[in-house]
Amino acid sequence: MNDEINSADSSAHPASVHTAVATDLTTIEKLDSEKLMHTYKRKPVAFDHGQGMHLYDTDGKEYLDLLSGLGTMGLGHSNKAVSDTLCDQSKKLMHVSNLYHVEGRGELASALIALYGQPGKVFFGNSGAEANECAIKLARKWGHANKPAADTIVTATGSFHGRTLATIAATGQPEFARPFAPITPGFAHTPFNDVEALDVMLGEKTIAFMIEVVQGESGVWPATKEYVQTAAELCKQRDILFIVDEVQSGIYRSGKPFAFQHFGIAPDIITSAKALGNGFPVGATIARTSVADAFSPGDHGTTFGGNVLACAVCLAVLDCYKAMDIEEHVTNVGAYARKRLAEIPGVCDVRGIGLMIGFTFSDFSAQECAEELLANGIVVNAIGDSYIRILPPLICEYAHIDTLVSAINAIIENKK
Ligand SMILES: *Cc1c(COP(=O)(O)O)cnc(C)c1O
Repeated sequence: MNDEINSADSSAHPASVHTAVATDLTTIEKLDSEKLMHTYKRKPVAFDHGQGMHLYDTDGKEYLDLLSGLGTMGLGHSNKAVSDTLCDQSKKLMHVSNLYHVEGRGELASALIALYGQPGKVFFGNSGAEANECAIKLARKWGHANKPAADTIVTATGSFHGRTLATIAATGQPEFARPFAPITPGFAHTPFNDVEALDVMLGEKTIAFMIEVVQGESGVWPATKEYVQTAAELCKQRDILFIVDEVQSGIYRSGKPFAFQHFGIAPDIITSAKALGNGFPVGATIARTSVADAFSPGDHGTTFGGNVLACAVCLAVLDCYKAMDIEEHVTNVGAYARKRLAEIPGVCDVRGIGLMIGFTFSDFSAQECAEELLANGIVVNAIGDSYIRILPPLICEYAHIDTLVSAINAIIENKK
């Protein structure tokens, strides 16, 4: 055996074993375009490092990050406690599979159940789509035992639940699934925020109703309280599981641990991912105990999900939030952001909850505005030509919102 290769000390590696990595945008763009499947139209920037609210590109230019890696970097970039945990745990033990017990997995599950707020059990995966796949499998298995005639999971139009074959069928935007027909059966869509349609749709054949209480990917559209509460009531009356996809809205993004907690309901299953690992890929499905117990050994599994490294990182993330006044902070900064954005002439329909915010431009392209903001060193997300979505790190301060508002004002002023 080669002691050099087996040494834990990476400095023992001869320099020549490392792949040279390009650090200039032109080379990086060219390589990506030639070697990566064309599933993304990436912006012309390559990020090199980040700190707190800021990102730095390969030329050293600073950006204010108001997207936080699609709502994952709640604690901001390079959080010391998270990075230290990641480093320390990676040197101790990274992975042994789900065939064995490890330290930390049970504590993380307990912490998530406490945030969920009722007795439950957890399954860990690696992403939001996987968390939803687990919820779908669990609901179907529960249905076979409890509602044998039912075969359908109902979701809302405009929803987004992931990119796997089952979750694109669940997603209430048919264009995501159509190119990949045959479409996975067992899903039906009902118009979002339409109480009467829901009453007609939820019936004998329905196993579960799954929603995002704030639709994120389609432009940040909160459900009405009446809609969510009626859905919860109908599900209870008709023996239908209520599943809330908290992949984007969960882990304090809304100002509460999970966004469903703004609606006075108690869902049977929730799913979490994005911000849970602060950039470390992880997903979790949390179900009420009586539902969770529909799974038996062998029903579901994953090689990586809930490995010891992921659990250590997520515990560090949740510990960081516990040590902060995060709920109050997110609520206050989110309300301030919506107020300031609504004051901009040319901006309308400012909406959202906590630091999950969408708005619309009445007169010009959201895409163009997002491009100009990026050129000015501010990262936001344009959805189609009309909507802007911001999902800042939850450590965002009032001054960061002021920077965004000034920049948008200047862009609009220039267009006059
Ligand atoms: C991002 C997202 C998903 C998919 O998560 P992945 O980690 O990309 O698989 C599912 N549901 C919602 C609400 C999301 O925002």
